[in-house]
Amino acid sequence: MSLADRFAKVRADFPILRRRFHGKELVYLDSAATTLKPEPVVKRIADYYLLESANVHRGAYALSDEATRNFEEARADVASLIHASPEEIVFVRNTTEAVNLAAHSWAEKNLSPGDHILITELEHHANIVPWQILAEKKGLKVVAARILDNGQVDEADLFAKLKEPVKLLAITGCSNALGTFTDLSKIIPRAHAAGVKVLVDAAQLISQKPVNVRELDVDFLVFSGHKLFGPTGIGVFYARHELLKDMPPWQGGGSMIAEVTLEKTTFNEAPFRFEAGTPHIEGTVGLHAAIRYFQALDFDDVRAWEHALLKKATDGLRGIPGIILYGDVPDKGAILSFNLRGAHHSDVGQILDQQGVAVRAGHHCTQPLMKRLGVPGTVRASFSIYNNDADVEAFLKAVSKARELLT
Ligand code: PMP
Repeated sequence: MSLADRFAKVRADFPILRRRFHGKELVYLDSAATTLKPEPVVKRIADYYLLESANVHRGAYALSDEATRNFEEARADVASLIHASPEEIVFVRNTTEAVNLAAHSWAEKNLSPGDHILITELEHHANIVPWQILAEKKGLKVVAARILDNGQVDEADLFAKLKEPVKLLAITGCSNALGTFTDLSKIIPRAHAAGVKVLVDAAQLISQKPVNVRELDVDFLVFSGHKLFGPTGIGVFYARHELLKDMPPWQGGGSMIAEVTLEKTTFNEAPFRFEAGTPHIEGTVGLHAAIRYFQALDFDDVRAWEHALLKKATDGLRGIPGIILYGDVPDKGAILSFNLRGAHHSDVGQILDQQGVAVRAGHHCTQPLMKRLGVPGTVRASFSIYNNDADVEAFLKAVSKARELLT
């Protein structure tokens, strides 16, 4: 079967793509914000509610045992997706909550006044703001490595900054605003050599490249289910076992305890110590279904397909006068960021919407990056497994129309 045939079959699993907006078939180019969900994932969630609904870890009956088994199997498959062990996987709401967990548990315990947290100018607000809040509380400092004009991290600057009193490097694996990658296999060993722990924001990376936490030798890695064809409200916090087992709880309540008296509580072991209360059970089984769906596709095929779309779109934009591209490097995720000279990004976004083309226009929760690029925002088109050549053609036609109308 050709790649086009294979991905036409994939597309058929996403009924939302048959909807029409403004009289036009939906062209969804905002997968970097959230991916669409295939039917098997939604069906799996419906099955949980219709046939399997029970709480986990506490029932004395078969239905609850089944729910617990499904919940823990989801954890095991999330672990195998990133080559971790199940006891290193904590279920959280999303990437944002996972970074906050790292900040308010590990970092709060292990960092002292005067210590620095190193980030980069590429980061999403989710990997900036939690560190600033903690810094304010504990007398720490957040410093940022610079980027180059092409949207890649300035490694020379980053390596120069990896020194006392930096204790943690919190860095994205793939920029959500530009699509540029960071070279983690080079950066992580340099950080460790300087005695610095590393947290990787894999919110975008997880759908763009295979992730192996053992090979990367990363300390913490975080991502959201909804950017990997899974439901919203479920995310993953990975921490190396040696670190996780000594991390203090950050939220108290049911399930995370060993024993409670009115005077004192002892806590459950990791990862359960970090999952207070009834978890997002349907989210975990939905994420499990999403991982199975994604893993049934060959990653090389996914890359080849998305990159062909990215290249066609990028080459097409280059042919339109007045286009400014950001993060325009050969090896990048399937994310395209641009502006039209003389036009505001919001106006471009609106005209594209009128043509049925859904893109993101704005700062993409990366205001410091936009400031560094000297723009208030960009237009971002991101491609995924369900997009096709016709989507790219509709996108290019809509951008040409925006140019006609706005410049
Ligand atoms: N980091 C990156 C790189 C992202 O792309 C996003 C989502 N746009 C986040 C963090 C935050 O993810 P969430 O909103 O799911 O917590």
